[in-house]
Amino acid sequence: MTSGIRTGIVYDDMYLLHETGMHPEKKERLKSIMSYLEKRDVLKKLEKVEPRKAKVEEIEYAHNRDYIEQIESYCAKGYNAIDMDTFISANSYEAALLAAGGSMAAVDKVMKDELDHVFCFVRPPGHHAEPSQGMGFCLFNNAAIAAYHAMKEYDIERVLIFDWDVHHGNGTQLIFYHDPRVLYSSVHQSPAFPGTGAADEIGAGKGEGYTVNVPLSGGFGDNDYELILRELLVPLCDEYKPQLIIVSAGQDAHESDPLAGMALSSHGYGMMAGIMKEIADKYCDGKIVLLLEGGYNVNALAESVFCVLDTLAGWEMGIESKKGEILERQATRDRIDIVKDKLMPFWPTMAE
Ligand SMILES: [Zn+2]
Repeated sequence: MTSGIRTGIVYDDMYLLHETGMHPEKKERLKSIMSYLEKRDVLKKLEKVEPRKAKVEEIEYAHNRDYIEQIESYCAKGYNAIDMDTFISANSYEAALLAAGGSMAAVDKVMKDELDHVFCFVRPPGHHAEPSQGMGFCLFNNAAIAAYHAMKEYDIERVLIFDWDVHHGNGTQLIFYHDPRVLYSSVHQSPAFPGTGAADEIGAGKGEGYTVNVPLSGGFGDNDYELILRELLVPLCDEYKPQLIIVSAGQDAHESDPLAGMALSSHGYGMMAGIMKEIADKYCDGKIVLLLEGGYNVNALAESVFCVLDTLAGWEMGIESKKGEILERQATRDRIDIVKDKLMPFWPTMAE
């Protein structure tokens, strides 16, 4: 073991072989992240976690066998898309198996206490993928598979999946909608793709109260997100006490993202990582696995990812970009109150 290193990354050139051409979810996203980390000379401060290929039985934690076989055969036949948005190529199935397997390898590292945090730079992303349907650039739901793997192999029963991607993670929500073992929480732009994620979608059956959606119109920035996390997520976690935190880490809520209209700065991502770290240090010995979802301005993506790692690893190196505007708007308070109101019957802390 390299002494002192507690933060790792998952990366493999295989993730570049999910070819999507001119599509915004392109391999240059990962190249940009890796070259930025190299430029800042931090790769030596990060443990490289080797991904493995997921077994089909593991993909089946979250997906139907028919769907998995369909993706495999589409790739083998040379199809170039599964719908209008979601491009594939010959190697996409293998890349998707390695994305899910890389996510599980990261879970293994933190659950075995060999690392505290692992950021997985995987493609294709996962949070829109539903049990029998890929969509929104996603094939297999990496976050859901990672959560199931953790619960199955390490006998835990409280996993927080926090989804800071600007789009709602419809797939992840659907998979755990009836399952109290996973608290799924998403802050996202609405209205926007995929159209789900209203504040009154709170889970059902035994899972009622374990889905927490914070839909926002565009333009919300660092302070708004900080307030939402402090007022909603932190108290919820004080009650839920997660045993593992998985972040669906999409950096497309960045102010310069071309696909969305939110206003986070790169520092804002570091701020959110800091709050995740506080929660993790308090309840689960620091265990955080982050899975790359969106983020389509490749420079903003790399800078945001760096800010997250900088916070988690405690380098305090910083970046040159300006911080986001400081404002605390009534609109944010109003959103928080709406969400608290829905959750009050299930979480005493929300009534305070
Ligand atoms: Zn997104």
